[in-house]
Amino acid sequence: MSTDVKSKDELNKEAEVLLKPILEKKVSGGKITARDRLAIPPQTMPAQDPHIRGRNVSEVALGYGEAQARLEAERCLGCKNQPCVAGCPVQVSIPRFIGEIQKGCFKAAVDIIKETNLLPAVCGRVCPQEKQCQAECTVGKSLKNVEKAVAIGRLERFAADWERNQGAVTVPAVKAPTGKKAAVIGSGPAGLTAAADIAREGHEVCIFEAFHKPGGVMVYGIPEFRLPKDIVQLEIDNLKKMGVKIETNFLAGRTRTVAELLDEDGFGAVFIGVGAGLPKFLGCPGENLVGVFSANEYLTRSNLMKAYDREKSATPMFSSKITAVIGGGNVAMDAARMALRLGSEEVHVIYRRTREEMPARSEEVEHAMEEGIVFDFLRNPSMILGNEKGCVAGMELQKFELGESDASGRRSPVLIPGSEYVYDCDTVIVALGNESNPLLVRTTANLNADRRGRIVVNEKQKTSLDRVYAGGDIVLGAATVILAMGEGRRAAAAINEILAGKT
Ligand SMILES: Cc1cc2nc3c(=O)[nH]c(=O)nc-3n(C[C@H](O)[C@H](O)[C@H](O)COP(=O)(O)OP(=O)(O)OC[C@H]3O[C@@H](n4cnc5c(N)ncnc54)[C@H](O)[C@@H]3O)c2cc1C
Ligand code: SF4
Repeated sequence: MSTDVKSKDELNKEAEVLLKPILEKKVSGGKITARDRLAIPPQTMPAQDPHIRGRNVSEVALGYGEAQARLEAERCLGCKNQPCVAGCPVQVSIPRFIGEIQKGCFKAAVDIIKETNLLPAVCGRVCPQEKQCQAECTVGKSLKNVEKAVAIGRLERFAADWERNQGAVTVPAVKAPTGKKAAVIGSGPAGLTAAADIAREGHEVCIFEAFHKPGGVMVYGIPEFRLPKDIVQLEIDNLKKMGVKIETNFLAGRTRTVAELLDEDGFGAVFIGVGAGLPKFLGCPGENLVGVFSANEYLTRSNLMKAYDREKSATPMFSSKITAVIGGGNVAMDAARMALRLGSEEVHVIYRRTREEMPARSEEVEHAMEEGIVFDFLRNPSMILGNEKGCVAGMELQKFELGESDASGRRSPVLIPGSEYVYDCDTVIVALGNESNPLLVRTTANLNADRRGRIVVNEKQKTSLDRVYAGGDIVLGAATVILAMGEGRRAAAAINEILAGKT
């Protein structure tokens, strides 16, 4: 480790020193005032040295030690009006769980989180907290800096990791069998959450997954260095322990249609959580050249087929010298950082706007920058250039400037005429977002979707068809893990009602 990066141990020892007088004051009946709490320094997340981690796929963020977690928890003011809870899509009882961490009752903390969030170890790692709970935190507002808000996500992660490391993860109780069964199509966060909530009521649940491994984007999209796969696997193993069956290599709409599942296979209800797995492309000349990838394909080969494990992986490796990633979201950050780990000598992110407008989580952008990824803002390709072998040899890039704000509130990129120039690269990864795969809508009569292929649902996640529910990215468009889970949970509640004959 280089000298300027403090180890997890060092950071935890520093926290111990600051925590001691706070705990002593509490034991002697003293009160920790809001002023005291606001003076506690925000705790830095220990992380692998950027110079080392850019060439391995182990997790970058290492998680708080106990003293760091308790000290960070002491920064929470326990606000009565709970603005952070209002900012959380599944309304985790944030001040309550942080209060338990303050006391050192970590199991109680994780149990509180799990009342409303099935996957805290996942959400603690990948949720965009700076735009949700932490954006509303009184501490961040008082210190006039959202980055100084209480690190709610890191504390959530700490509690969930503590439970897992103790081997204390419990399998949710399941009621007596009802003899009713439901099918869940897709095993991403929406499907897994729906399956757990339906199984809890004693109904039989079978998840049908197109890939050979369950987990959805958490397994094939988000890389190991951000979300270790054994964490997702543990949640899947727990579902199996609850009695949920998982059939992989099952492409609903082809292997069996929704109508066949309902009318011939005896499922009382179907939940569709198939995500948004269809990549968008640039639509410019040169996109068919060898060396152009969709971020989806690139990441699936890297994560699901373990391209980084050169000795064992069966998937072919493309050697790159200069990789250009087009886009500014989480997918672009993951693809760029993966390209570095797969051996690309230089990695550039090409984005039409500036850093301020980037939709990626700020932590991911910072990590990418620390790892040496170069950001070329206000640029976009008009053409990908090839050589005589049909391989990528560069791009023609156009320059942009920022104009008026668009419907999303972000300033629009405006083309600077005549600004084209040639840019050298041998690999292009297109990360412009994803759309819905039309297979299920095409193979299910009267299943309504909007013009972008998103399935239309009511407030209970019911589709235009009786007994058919949908949620997650297939309804929202490419969104987030926590929003997908929220929709899975709402759909499960409605499915449980119809299976119980209540509606
Ligand atoms: C690279 C990447 C990085 C991301 N980073 C973040 C992040 O940091 N934070 C965050 O909150 N969100 C992030 N997201 C978004 C987040 O992962 C998604 O919003 C979320 O996974 C959606 O969940 P889902 O259950 O709706 O679908 P998915 O996770 O997409 O799962 C759908 C599953 O359905 C399966 N399936 C599809 N069609 C069929 C079929 N016909 N039959 C059977 N199975 C089928 C798919 O194989 C897949 O396993 C990221 C997305 C990507 C691609
Ligand atoms: S808003 Fe911030 S300080 Fe207030 S209870 Fe929530 S986490 Fe604690």
